[in-house]
Amino acid sequence: MSSKRDEKEGLKSRLNKTKIIEVKRLLQHEGCPICRACDEYLERSLFWFFAEAYGEGVAVSRYIDRWGFCEKHTKMVAKSGPKWQKTVIYSWILNAKLPEIQVLHKLLEAYTESNFVKRIAVLKELKNTISKARPRGGCYFCETIAQTASSYVHSLLDALAYQEVQNLYRKSTGLCIPHFFQVLELFHENYVQQLKIIVEVQIEQLNRLKYDFDEFFRKEDYRFSNEPKDKEQFAWIRAIKLFMGNTCPED
Ligand SMILES: [Zn+2]
Ligand SMILES: [Zn+2]
Repeated sequence: MSSKRDEKEGLKSRLNKTKIIEVKRLLQHEGCPICRACDEYLERSLFWFFAEAYGEGVAVSRYIDRWGFCEKHTKMVAKSGPKWQKTVIYSWILNAKLPEIQVLHKLLEAYTESNFVKRIAVLKELKNTISKARPRGGCYFCETIAQTASSYVHSLLDALAYQEVQNLYRKSTGLCIPHFFQVLELFHENYVQQLKIIVEVQIEQLNRLKYDFDEFFRKEDYRFSNEPKDKEQFAWIRAIKLFMGNTCPED
């Protein structure tokens, strides 16, 4: 009994160590560590998507329901992936959706041929058919990225309980705003110390940006306009990156 418990504890500690190593690795790079994790995941998952997942139930029903993917991931699919798989995906969507549009046409015919009483029932069926046929549900890639982000947000909070990770985090550029608020949504008394560090780093990051904006406007003043222009000229680009993050889900 106790050996089973030891085994479980051993596995938990190994998982914990793996998480810490992964978070530390992500913090070595510039930019939001969660965005980076999502980008890396997307790169890996794109390979597996075209190798296998494109033909599996969950993915198939997602892209059929949605008539494909969100705008961002449609561009990604269009650019990468083999022609065969892309043809299969879009032909399956068509095979599933065309009959629904044909039903829609039959219902419109039935509507025009019906009397007033029957029209109410046809109209109800028509509305149901439209809502079934129209693009609905989330994008397959957006959804899997959201799951990845959620898992890494938890890993970050767990890893930030350790001093070595805290030191590394304080030297980092912090999180993008969407992931910053995703972390804050996990407020729990066990995480107060970690959240405090995250908010402190975020304030530092925002203050750096504010300084650059102030510098930009100062140099626009005729009294200082001869000063050489510097990184404050591109502060707006950093603001967009910070406020949007790399991975913005479609909705
Ligand atoms: Zn991010
Ligand atoms: Zn998407």
